[in-house]
Amino acid sequence: MSLDNLRNLYQQVILEHYKKPRNRGKTSPVHRHQRGHNPSCGDTIDLTLQLDEAGNHIQDVKFEGEGCAIAMSSADLMADAMRGKSVKEALEMIQRFQAMMKGEAEFPKELRKLNVMQGVAQFPVRIKCATLTWHTLKAALELAHSETPEYVSNES
Ligand code: ZN
Repeated sequence: MSLDNLRNLYQQVILEHYKKPRNRGKTSPVHRHQRGHNPSCGDTIDLTLQLDEAGNHIQDVKFEGEGCAIAMSSADLMADAMRGKSVKEALEMIQRFQAMMKGEAEFPKELRKLNVMQGVAQFPVRIKCATLTWHTLKAALELAHSETPEYVSNES
């Protein structure tokens, strides 16, 4: 497959998740709730998590919000990838995603769908769109149960 075809395929996947997200809404129950905002583009994300009883595994991830195709599809892809993962695995995946945005890593076969976001690394202004949902997830996982959600921004 040529590089251009591969790029088109990635764009298709991103647009498909933007137009037909699978993970929009709120988890039931809500164990974590975190808002994220990307001022440079105007993207907002409201992320909710359902954890197992011990709080060690992510059972469900849902998001609401408004934003560009990259921000919204990144959230949808992330939610798919996070279901069933342990908190430790999730934190590793967040790190890996951030490294991928610097062109330093990619995801293994079983998570390769996340690699469609690799192309975004070529457009520095859009990287914050792609990472917003991951920043927000990190904040959600670090939040103690039933704490009032704070607004996180990835502008720092
Ligand atoms: Zn954006």
